[in-house]
Amino acid sequence: MIEVKNLKKSFENEKEEFHAVNGVSFSVEKGEIFGIIGLSGAGKSTLVRCINRLEEPNEGEVLIDGVDILKLSKEELLKERKEIGMIFQSFNLFMQKTVAENISFPLEISKVPKTEIEKRVDELLEFIDLKEKKYSYPAELSGGQKQRVAIARAIATNPKVLLSDEGTSALDPANTESILSLFKKIVTQYKMTIIMITHQMEVAKDICDRIAVMDSGKIIEENTTEELFRNP
Ligand code: ADP
Ligand code: ADP
Repeated sequence: MIEVKNLKKSFENEKEEFHAVNGVSFSVEKGEIFGIIGLSGAGKSTLVRCINRLEEPNEGEVLIDGVDILKLSKEELLKERKEIGMIFQSFNLFMQKTVAENISFPLEISKVPKTEIEKRVDELLEFIDLKEKKYSYPAELSGGQKQRVAIARAIATNPKVLLSDEGTSALDPANTESILSLFKKIVTQYKMTIIMITHQMEVAKDICDRIAVMDSGKIIEENTTEELFRNP
């Protein structure tokens, strides 16, 4: 389970302090898919980037099964980061590495033994249904295939939480569908928690259990997907 409590992140502009995330709290259960929607500039990316400390928040707590990620030292964070995977709109794969090398990367960082890495990579390739591309380079893959590889890399260390920042936004409907069914497989098979930013209402409606609406750094509404989209 992940609990975010009173999270704040501000940036210094020329003269003033700008609160990109201004006191956000929510919690997500194991096996749940939590959506974050809202206009561009609402603070969604900054919020999610604070959860894995790509950004350093100014205030608040991020508890993963009770451990406050924000209180960890650099060394402890390295260990705990393998509990949080992340994917991006633009995939962010290593272009000079093969599919297998991309997926191996977090396992090597975590010092997993070589033979185990090989086994895990094959398992993940099977999971994302892309065995035939094991030795291909990202440039040889379609957008949907690239995102599947990015997902395999993000879940390689079997994290508790998968973060997605517009993970389907660059994809056509068919590829979007394949990524969403992969998300569903991840929560049912691995019991992970998924927190996903999307501007695609249909995507949020289709897959999220609960949704938070962000505006000006705050959550202005949070509800089950069913309630949120219920016609008045
Ligand atoms: P969203 O993901 O909802 O589009 P962001 O989290 O990307 O919103 O951005 C929220 C606000 O914070 C925006 O006004 C953006 O310009 C600002 N912001 C984001 N990152 C930085 C940064 N590194 N430095 C300064 N301002 C930033
Ligand atoms: P998105 O809309 O997907 O959130 P953005 O274009 O807002 O993407 O942000 C892309 C990157 O630029 C992020 O790493 C964000 O932190 C950074 N960024 C956004 N706004 C600013 C800003 N005003 N100053 C510096 N960095 C920013």
